[in-house]
Amino acid sequence: MSKGPQRIRGTQDIWGEEADRFQAVVAAFERVRRLYGFQRIEMPAFEATAVFSRSIGETTDVVSKEMYTFEDRGGDSLTLRPEFTAGICRAFLSEGWQQLAPLKVATHGSVFRYERPQKGRYRQFHQLDAEILGADSPAADVELLVFADQLLNELGITDGVTLQLNTLGDAETRDAWRSALVAHFESHRDDLSEDSLARLDKNPLRILDSKDPRDRPAADSAPDIDAYLTDQARAFFDKVTAGLDAAGVAWTRNARLVRGLDYYRHTAFEFVTDRLGAQGTVLAGGRYDGLVEALGGPHTPAVGWAAGIERLAMLAGAPAPNTIDVALVPMGDAAEMAAIGLLAQLRRAGIAADMGYKGNMKKRMQRANASGARQAIILGDDELARGEAALKDLESGAQQSVPLSGLVEAVRRQ
Ligand code: ATP
Ligand code: MG
Repeated sequence: MSKGPQRIRGTQDIWGEEADRFQAVVAAFERVRRLYGFQRIEMPAFEATAVFSRSIGETTDVVSKEMYTFEDRGGDSLTLRPEFTAGICRAFLSEGWQQLAPLKVATHGSVFRYERPQKGRYRQFHQLDAEILGADSPAADVELLVFADQLLNELGITDGVTLQLNTLGDAETRDAWRSALVAHFESHRDDLSEDSLARLDKNPLRILDSKDPRDRPAADSAPDIDAYLTDQARAFFDKVTAGLDAAGVAWTRNARLVRGLDYYRHTAFEFVTDRLGAQGTVLAGGRYDGLVEALGGPHTPAVGWAAGIERLAMLAGAPAPNTIDVALVPMGDAAEMAAIGLLAQLRRAGIAADMGYKGNMKKRMQRANASGARQAIILGDDELARGEAALKDLESGAQQSVPLSGLVEAVRRQ
């Protein structure tokens, strides 16, 4: 390994096939979000720290342990975004997007979390993000879920993936359920892990999805939300599941799937795979009707999801290799100059072209074959003097002479 600067732990240099996979995920997302009428937005990579601490919540792992927070030269506390939702809600307020509600937006980019790096878990990683702000209808939840399902399908991510769905009810439901959970866990105090004991006051719902085996018996025997659902909350959930059924999207109920913070309402969901070990959640989201209020704004129902691009890229089928259409093989000085002109013409005509600069004829032909191009244009000084070049089909080996002026057309016809 060189003595020069090294990559920072938890960051990635993405190249080769991995970069192709990454791009394939982003391209599919861009295609599908258009089909669903989501506007593309670009967001800042950092925000005032309060944007995240107030909206994600001080008691979450993300805020308490994982944020990259620093003081800038002006003395302000800033944080590299650990997710998109909080910044989008900030913009909804500060940029007057409220007037555009209901607003469907989508973005992707880097997010930063100080976590222990491992396969599928990085400190700078990338998310796709889709949100609907200012919509209280269950149809919005359904639309986002069908969008997510189509995206995974287009990426070929279907085997071993399930949509797990739950409801967290409305405020009344949640308060009643929370009290029942606290009473239940109080009576199982001695069986809980230290982490869960600490959560008991602040965030008792989180005990339900604890990964600590010590918590599982108490968590598994805890009451489901169902008995506490108000008629309205039940009707909301029924509309979401009926919508999914109507759209032909398979789902399973996971009564242990929760979001800890108070402003999460109704729908919570995760697309989970059995293929990535402990990093099994590929896409997660839900309804967060109280978040904009937590940032000081008016009551704004909203729902959204985020997905890790790296995890999707690992699961997606291999993308088509990055190839060119035609390779130029010039031999001789005059031919090389002519090839530069021809290369520009081909590319301007929308034909992917490249040329090998070095080596003898054999080497250049080898490189042309390896490029994946279906055709090669061989330019020698003699042909050039006649105003011609040889167009070779690299699959069949057939070769023909073509006048230079007709080359772009001849390539296109093949
Ligand atoms: P996990 O339980 O894996 O830590 P999370 O609940 O922290 O996930 P979210 O905050 O819901 O994840 O983020 C949405 C998605 O971003 C996840 O489903 C996952 O695909 C991806 N993701 C989260 N953290 C990382 C990470 N450190 N590296 C790579 N991808 C990640
Ligand atoms: Mg996490």
